[in-house]
Formats: sequence, C-alpha cells, structure tokens
Amino acid sequence: DIPTIYVITPTYTRPVQKAELVRLANTFLHVVNLHWIVVEDSPRKTKLVANLLEKAGINFTHLNVESPRSLKIGLSRTPSHSPRGTTQRNLGLRWLRDNINASNPPEGVVYFADDDNTYSLELFEEMRYTRTVSVWPVAFVGGLRFESPRVSPSGRVVGWKTVFDPNRPFAIDMAGFAISLRLILERPHANFRLEGIKGGYQETSLLKDLVTMDGLEAKAANCTKVLVWHTRAERPTLVNEGKRGFTDPNIEV
Ligand code: UDP
Ligand code: MN
Repeated sequence: DIPTIYVITPTYTRPVQKAELVRLANTFLHVVNLHWIVVEDSPRKTKLVANLLEKAGINFTHLNVESPRSLKIGLSRTPSHSPRGTTQRNLGLRWLRDNINASNPPEGVVYFADDDNTYSLELFEEMRYTRTVSVWPVAFVGGLRFESPRVSPSGRVVGWKTVFDPNRPFAIDMAGFAISLRLILERPHANFRLEGIKGGYQETSLLKDLVTMDGLEAKAANCTKVLVWHTRAERPTLVNEGKRGFTDPNIEV
C-alpha cells in the first residue's frame, strides 16, 4: 500500500484564486494517493471552489471557516506576521482527527500547501514515507534564494540556515515540512497557535508539540535540492473594470 498524502490548503476569494487553484490541481493530478483538503477562508463555501473541486478529478474534502476578524484587520503591527490561513490549517487538522480512526490509522503524511506556491512532483515522493516529521529547503523565503535545514555529515538536522532568527526551535517555512498522519492523530491537541506568537514562530507553535530537532528527517538529498518555491502572484490590474460595461460580471474568472 502506498501511503496517502493529505494536503491541507487554505484559500480565500480574490482575483487570482481560480488561477492558483487550477495550477495546484494540475500538479496534484500527477500525484497518486493524494487527498486534497481545501479550506476556504469564508463564511460559506463558494460555488467557484466547489465546482473546481468537483471537476478536478482529485480526492478532496471541501471545508470552510472564516478567520477571526481580529486577525483579518491585523491587530499585529506587522501585517506580514499576522497568521494567514492558520484558522483554516487547524480546521484541516481537526477534520483528520475527526474522520480517521486513530487506533488503526492508514499509512499517511500531512502537508500544508498554500495555494500560491510552486510544488515539484518530486517533493511528494520525498515526503510520502515520513516516519515523524520530514524537512527540506524552501526557495524565496526569509530574504534569500532559499532557506534550508542545516544537516550534519551524518544526515542529522542540527540547525537552520536562515538569516532571520536561526535560533528559533524550528526556523522553517510552512512549505518546508510534512508530518506523519500517525503523529497528528497521536497528539490530538497539537495545533497552530493563533495569537500571542512572534513573527516566524507559526511553524514552531505546531512542531514543538510533535517533535524535537533530533527527530527530524532530512529529505531532498540531505536538504541539498530545492523542490518547492514560495512564489506569490502579482495582483492583476483591474482599473478598467466597470468602465463602458466592461467586463461581464457573470463570467467566472
Ligand atoms: N489565506 C487565507 N486567508 C487570508 C489570506 C491568506 O486563507 O486572508 C491563505 C492563502 O490562500 C494561502 C495561505 O493562506 O494559501 C497563505 O497566505 P499567503 O500566500 O497570502 O501568505 P504568504 O505568501 O505571504 O506567506
Ligand atoms: Mn503565499
């Protein structure tokens, strides 16, 4: 049996949403035994996402939860540090715990895939046989071409090659790790913390309850290969919308 990859994706309504989700679906279609848990940041499920998932041909679960307003307007002074997608990732974790029998779980791994990143197909085969938590480099984060776990010659993770706060317990981007399903079910209270955490500590808030550094598994050729890119779509210019009857608001984009 090939272990199942449970991918949790937070997503929200904006002009590029469908384009991002189509790109992601096109990637995931090439991955066997993948279950896509899509969690909309919205008070109700949208037609756009529901139709896209129905047509994609991927095993999926469609959920929704609106982020607390206090997070949305960004009470934190540094907006980039306000947790985006965190409420949604926690709901994805809860769905797994509510729907998979913890006493006899299937082989599987859980990965948090934001809707705008770029994922190599190789990445999924690297994470598939994760025993506890596996880690690898991520491109375009922390002001660098890539950040990476620091791996000893014997293949142990011994620290973090980052400029921003390398002494964090887990100085790693959301896209840089995957967790065994068994571990998620064994620790039912491990979640991302929503409030009272410093910028860059989102990942640590979950991982500290699951693993210690010496339990991490270095993937992607001892963390020497970049298989995921923290890309971000440019916001399209829509200044002519509404002028001279342009464009047709009934056409889904
Ligand atoms: N996201 C969300 N609600 C928001 C903002 C973002 O659900 O209000 C999702 C977004 O679709 C993505 C993830 O959270 O899957 C991370 O957001 P984003 O890519 O904007 O963050 P960044 O690239 O700046 O880390
Ligand atoms: Mn992003």
